[in-house]
Amino acid sequence: MEECFFCKMVKGEVPTLKIFEDDNVIMVLDIRPANKGHSLIIPKGHFKSLFETPGEVLSSIMNAIVFGGSKIGQAVQAQGLNVVYGFGEIAGQRVPHVVVHLIPRFQDDKVYISWEPSQPTQDELKKTYELLSSELKKEVVVQQPEKKEPAETPVEVATPKSGQEEKKPEYDYSSWTKKRIP
Ligand SMILES: [Zn+2]
Repeated sequence: MEECFFCKMVKGEVPTLKIFEDDNVIMVLDIRPANKGHSLIIPKGHFKSLFETPGEVLSSIMNAIVFGGSKIGQAVQAQGLNVVYGFGEIAGQRVPHVVVHLIPRFQDDKVYISWEPSQPTQDELKKTYELLSSELKKEVVVQQPEKKEPAETPVEVATPKSGQEEKKPEYDYSSWTKKRIP
C-alpha cells in the first residue's frame, strides 16, 4: 500500500518548509497558499480524523493553532485568521490524515469561507436541539441562561466567557503570544 503523503512529509521523505515542530505535530508552509503565510498543522501520527486523534496530540494541535496562528499573524501582519479543518471528502478532506489549515486574512483578499444561512423555524431548531442534546448530554455541559435576563430564544448554547471581562484591542496577536509560548 502506498504510504500517505502527509506521513511522507512528517518523515522528511518529501521536501517541506517546516516552521514549527513538537513531539506530536509539524507545521509547514503550504506551497499553494490561499494567502501569504498559509500554513498546515500535521500530526506526526497517521490519524484519519480528529475524532480518532489522542488527547495529547489534540493538545499539540491546539497549541500549534494558537501559538502558530499568533506568530504567523504577527509575521505577515494579518488582520485576521481562519482555522480550517475538514473531515470527510464532502468537507474537502483529500488525504486520510488530519491537517489543519491556518489561513491569515487580509482586507480584500480572495479567500472565501462562506455558506448561505438557512432559516429553520423555531420548531425545527427545537427538534434539532433535542436531537443533539439527548445525544450529547452525558458528555457536554450546557451553560444555563443567566436568570436576570430572560433568554430570547429557547436554545442557549454554551458561550465561552473568556475575553468578556477585559476589553482587548482587535487582532492583538502579541497578547496571545505572551501567554502561549510553549
Ligand atoms: Zn498519514
